[in-house]
Formats: sequence, C-alpha cells, structure tokens
Amino acid sequence: MSELRKDPIVDRWVIVAAERGRRPSDFPSAQSQRTGSSGASCPFCEGNEGKTPPEIWAIRPDGSAPDTAGWQVRVVPNKFPALGIEGSTDRRGLGMFDLMSGVGAHEVIIETPEHDWSIGDDGPDTLEPVLRAYQLRLADLYRDSRFRYCVLFRNYGQRAGASLDHPHSQIIAVPIVPLRLKDKLAAAQQHYARKERCLFCDVINQELTLGDRVVLDREHFVALCPFAARFPFELAIFPKRHEHDLRLLDDLRRRALAEILSDCLHYLRSALGDPAYNYVVNTAPNPLPRPGRPGYWGTLEYDFHWHIEIMPRMTRIAGFEWGTGFYINPVSPENATAFLHERMAEEALDDQAETAG
Ligand SMILES: [Zn+2]
Ligand SMILES: [Zn+2]
Repeated sequence: MSELRKDPIVDRWVIVAAERGRRPSDFPSAQSQRTGSSGASCPFCEGNEGKTPPEIWAIRPDGSAPDTAGWQVRVVPNKFPALGIEGSTDRRGLGMFDLMSGVGAHEVIIETPEHDWSIGDDGPDTLEPVLRAYQLRLADLYRDSRFRYCVLFRNYGQRAGASLDHPHSQIIAVPIVPLRLKDKLAAAQQHYARKERCLFCDVINQELTLGDRVVLDREHFVALCPFAARFPFELAIFPKRHEHDLRLLDDLRRRALAEILSDCLHYLRSALGDPAYNYVVNTAPNPLPRPGRPGYWGTLEYDFHWHIEIMPRMTRIAGFEWGTGFYINPVSPENATAFLHERMAEEALDDQAETAG
C-alpha cells in the first residue's frame, strides 16, 4: 500500500510506494559511473596546478608556494563559472519581467591531491579540512553584500552531474536567495512566530524519540532518513545543538561532522554499491542587509537550523515529478534505515572477526 507523506518543513508531498522485498540491488543503474579519467590529464591532480585558474585559498602544511605541489586542500575559481564576480545586482525591468546581471562567484574545492581517493580511505581526516574550507569560503563570500546566498554541494559520479572524477565540491555565491531555501526559511520563521521554537529542533527531537528513521545518533550530530524523503536512502545530517549558520561550527564539532559525514557516505557506498550522489549544505543566507532592503528578519538566528542533505541518485526524476513537484520514493525511509543498520552490523561483525583472527 502506498502512502502520501508531507514534508513537515516545506509543504511538499511524497508518494512512498514501497514495493515489498525491494532491495538496493534492484537499482542496478545507480552506480557512480566514474568517467575513468586518469591523473595525467586531470587539472585537479597534484603537479597540474597550472591547469586551473590561480588558487584562492589552500592548506599547505609544508609552506609551499601557491599554485605548486604540496597542498592538502585547494580552492580555485571554476574555469567555466555559472556566474561572474564583476558587476552590480541592480534589477532591470523588461516590461513585466525582471532581469539582473549574472553576478556571483563559482569556486571549486579540490578535496585531496589524490585522484583516486575514496571515502573508505581516511574519510574524516580528509573531510575535516574540506569542511574548514567550506566555512572560510562562506565567511569570505558573505563579506560581499551582493551575494545573498552560497550553495555548497558535492556531485559524485557522472549520474550526479560530476564531470571530473577527482574528489571535489563546489561553492556558488548567488545574488538572490534560492526558492528552495526560501521555502524552508519561511516555514522556519512561521513555526518560530507561532511556537517560539525551532522547527528543525522539533523534528530532530521527535525523530530521536521515535527512532525508526535515525541512522546514526552521535554526541553532536544526528543522521536521519527524513520522514518524507524524496529519494531512496536520502539522508539528512543535523547538528544536535541549535545553530543557524555553518560558519559557527567549532573545531571539536567540525571533527564530529567530518566523522558522521564520512560514515554516512561510507555506509551508502558499502550498502548500495558505490551509488552516485549529491550532497548539499543548507545554511543561513547572508545576514548583511541588502542595500535598499534593510530590516532582515530578526529571528533567523533562532528559527533556522543548518543541515546537510545527501541524495543518492537511485531513481530518475521523470514526467510525474516535473509535472507535480511531488516525488515517488520506492523505498520507505524506515526500510532504508533498517537496511543501513543491517549493513553497519555486518561490518562491525567483519571488523570483530578481523581483530580476533
Ligand atoms: Zn585528478
Ligand atoms: Zn534548531
């Protein structure tokens, strides 16, 4: 029996049409499908620094010069940016239509010098400085009041839109708050106005009480399969402490985030056979007032709660989704959670056997 579920944060319906007995192996085309490119021609590989635009920021433990080898994480402008850094964000009218220049910033965060790195190799150690790069680039881009929001995301595998195999994420600063985030911000603000509580904290507390969609419950973070997940094995990671902005994450909790994010990606890979995925960081928009639009809402700090959404690309978005804005999810979030728990238990047993043997 299928079910219609409503997302408690945005008013979006999802059809959970779980077919009984359906297993992850029933999605054979979900594999990441790497392009198979080699390191020699890869612009993100160590030694090929000259093939990217000059670097913006890097961690260089050995103190090496910019745009040379010896880095751990490297941030460069995208060679083919979706938006350009110069120009004003004044709106022009074209009759009833609105128009503005394509102003923004588009940067690539190269996560490791190693072309073939995968999450099973020292995940937290590699992800921790990457998360630091996210925070610092976000802080730097938000100094520019033209940039209203920064979208931070990672595409993994061709099916998820990655054109290069080399591990990387991207940050795009945009001159308007995107609709998807606006919906969440509006819902959070309304909930806070009614209850003086954070909507996301309420969801997290309820999920922790119910338990059947909690994938990982750690001291500082929780990973859930959302109640109205759009995609099979969709996951969301929330800080347990209320926090509206990724920039506020301290060293201790950055390490904890690197660990839980690495574990989520590892278990997805191990349970589902290396699926393509996208993950997206949802953080607060730029708090600097926009010229000509003073008086940003005052409760943002209390009503919004940053989080990371991980979306494995197991299914394709087709006519029904495009036509309705609903999604059909063939794996219930409860089954997905149970399946991931099974996989974790199997791995724990394997580890025990290895240690014992
Ligand atoms: Zn490479
Ligand atoms: Zn909260």
